[in-house]
Amino acid sequence: MTEQQVMILGTGPAGYTAAIYAARANLNPVVLEGDEPGGQLTLTTEVENFPGFPDGVMGPELMESMKKQAQRFGAKFIFGKAAAVDFSGSPFAVTADDGTTYHSRAVILATGATARLLEIPGESELIGHGVSTCATCDGFFFSGKRIIVVGGGDSAMEEATFLTRYANEVTIVHRRDTLRASKVMQDRARSNPKIKWILNATPIAVKGDGQKVQGLEVRHNDTDKTEVLSTEGLFVSIGHRPNTAFLNGQVNLDKVGYVQVPANTTATNIQGVFACGDVADPRYRQAITAAGTGCRAAMDAERWLEQQA
Ligand code: NAP
Repeated sequence: MTEQQVMILGTGPAGYTAAIYAARANLNPVVLEGDEPGGQLTLTTEVENFPGFPDGVMGPELMESMKKQAQRFGAKFIFGKAAAVDFSGSPFAVTADDGTTYHSRAVILATGATARLLEIPGESELIGHGVSTCATCDGFFFSGKRIIVVGGGDSAMEEATFLTRYANEVTIVHRRDTLRASKVMQDRARSNPKIKWILNATPIAVKGDGQKVQGLEVRHNDTDKTEVLSTEGLFVSIGHRPNTAFLNGQVNLDKVGYVQVPANTTATNIQGVFACGDVADPRYRQAITAAGTGCRAAMDAERWLEQQA
């Protein structure tokens, strides 16, 4: 394929916004869509805090609108995800998971983050058989059942509240006795009569018969006693890890794996490689902040390309 000016990896709010800005700057960006085109917001229901939507907007709809907006200005989308990069010389090389290698003068990393798992025995074997990280995707399958949500952050509160639409009873299991979630999200969950709480309990194993989840074994931290909590479904909602493994050490990361960018820029340690959205943001991780940094990355890339001309 011919050499691109700008290649954008990832299509959450950061990647789409970078694509809109780069396309309007006549850079003809090529966007590699990633595993989950549209990113994490395609796995949510209503987004209540994206400015401009006083009555909220459905996550998938918001992302589809962003994509159309980028396409209107000529951004080209390719299905597939980045498997490897070579940033050792110009133009940079990006190899997709189908083996195709693309060359680009500038690259914008917008690969986001993926749901973390508990990494306890029984969990991985039962993914898709009662273990899930996406309430929106899988909640329907738990109509009339009893389920557990693990986590104490905003995501866990949101998922548990959402799951009460389907399940008869949702128990939130959290490893500490205080929640990390914001007050408004906590209050919403606490006032829901279908939600029960088991705090200060660490998950240690998922129990099942190979075909379906039957329980979650926890250790009660105050007594050190273990107990198997009977359940038909387990939603793991314990945060995300940045999608940076494919960079293979070529870009500076922090100790968790987020791309490091200095304040006031989206530039990475490699000249011509920029990062935006959740892949470089351990702190805010919001759709609106991701979109904002996507805009900055496109502008930074545009200025950098101008300086090279
Ligand atoms: P988070 O804030 O990092 O919370 C993760 C939760 O999982 C914490 O309670 C943590 O426990 C627990 N946890 C982590 N590893 C664990 C393990 N191995 N075993 C058991 N528990 C574990 O992640 P999040 O809830 O996904 O939220 C991420 C960001 O998105 C936050 O900034 C949040 O405000 C935002 N968000 C906002 C909304 C909204 O406003 N509508 C909705 C969702 C998310 P500890 O507390 O003990 O560390």
